[in-house]
Amino acid sequence: MDVNLVLRSTRVITPEGTRPASIAVSGGTIAAVLAYDAEVPAGARLEDVGDDVVLPGLVDTHVHVNDPGRTEWEGFWTATRAAAAGGITTLLDMPLNSLPPTTTVDNLRVKQEVARSKAHVDVGFWGGALPDNVKDLRPLHDAGVFGFKCFLSPSGVEEFPELDQEQLATSLAEISGFGGLMIVHAEDPHHLAAAPQRSGGAYADFLASRPRDAENTAIENLINQARRLDARVHVLHLSSSDALAPIAAARAEGVKITVESCPHFLTLTAEEIPDGATEFKCCPPIREAVNQDALWQGLADGTIDCIVSDHSPSTADLKTPDFASAWGGISSLQLGLPAIWTEARRRGHTLEDVVRWMSEGPARLAGLTRKGAIEAGRDADFAVLAPDATFTVDPAELQHRNRITAYAGRTLSGVVTSTWLRGERIADHGTLAEPSGRLLERNN
Ligand SMILES: [Zn+2]
Repeated sequence: MDVNLVLRSTRVITPEGTRPASIAVSGGTIAAVLAYDAEVPAGARLEDVGDDVVLPGLVDTHVHVNDPGRTEWEGFWTATRAAAAGGITTLLDMPLNSLPPTTTVDNLRVKQEVARSKAHVDVGFWGGALPDNVKDLRPLHDAGVFGFKCFLSPSGVEEFPELDQEQLATSLAEISGFGGLMIVHAEDPHHLAAAPQRSGGAYADFLASRPRDAENTAIENLINQARRLDARVHVLHLSSSDALAPIAAARAEGVKITVESCPHFLTLTAEEIPDGATEFKCCPPIREAVNQDALWQGLADGTIDCIVSDHSPSTADLKTPDFASAWGGISSLQLGLPAIWTEARRRGHTLEDVVRWMSEGPARLAGLTRKGAIEAGRDADFAVLAPDATFTVDPAELQHRNRITAYAGRTLSGVVTSTWLRGERIADHGTLAEPSGRLLERNN
């Protein structure tokens, strides 16, 4: 084997645990994880990161890049730079908010062409399931999308309508027929319609307009459909902790269901959101501290499979002080790792747990067998973290296009000192290299 790089640290997180090690890299792939003091092969370059921790590069399967079409909100250049700066080496783009949405093979090709030269990290695509594109699902699957996203309530953009229960069943049957995955924004439209709708700047009014029952009912219905059709489904951005027990019970009886949550549900609480602060608005909403405690319990007991950003930015003018009409979406691509690490540590969790939730789990969800772990044969993707260093979030230092964030002014633990993609350093103390990301297709 022709080793060209050895990355050495006193703390490397491998599937077997954390230990001092030297990672030998050959042609962008991890050739071997060697003893810490292993001799550096002739011709190889040694990079010793000291006591900084080497994690497998993070995998973020929930990002809205919005490119092309709504590039004033975000784009592949800026989003992937934010990802690289935040220790993320792979992201999967959501099918909506770009124009066109990723709902046909032609549209997928348009998006891939736009992303190709701008990707600072590896990029893959989810397809979209709409009421009228059932015939496009298999061609999209064959073209390499990682699965299909659908909404059960209005998505917020008119070109991406939701599915009713009958349409969900039709799409699920089609997708499970070719072994695909359906990922679902699970809020029930009838419960949303029945909830009190009050406009204005009071967060409590907004929270009341997106009740837990809407999530709970949508997830119950989804479990029933998945069971009936033996379909593989994934619950996106879980906020309501009430749904954890039904999900765990369904999984125990063999229903193929997985679930993710997001940094904002796990680190921010409804109680602390100031009135008018719509940088905190997302759907489903950030709920109470007691709900957050239960979500952490769901992580600890393994019910929640992964933590992903749901990075969904917009321009500042759409973040009006009225919670009812402001654009919903929280931007955290660059901050997810320190935000989660800060809170995880406070609750007694380790960086190994964080790796399970933010790298290994999302890689497994997407079937990315070359990502998500530091072991021989995987891509040499790494996030190097100074776990005890702290910083205060300054929006001016963020790489995403519209530097609005719910984390402004917070002091977080964990500084990403460098990020590596297939053995090349793509971020070094916030300085970013030229794009070297690849476009990924589903490999099973
Ligand atoms: Zn989303």
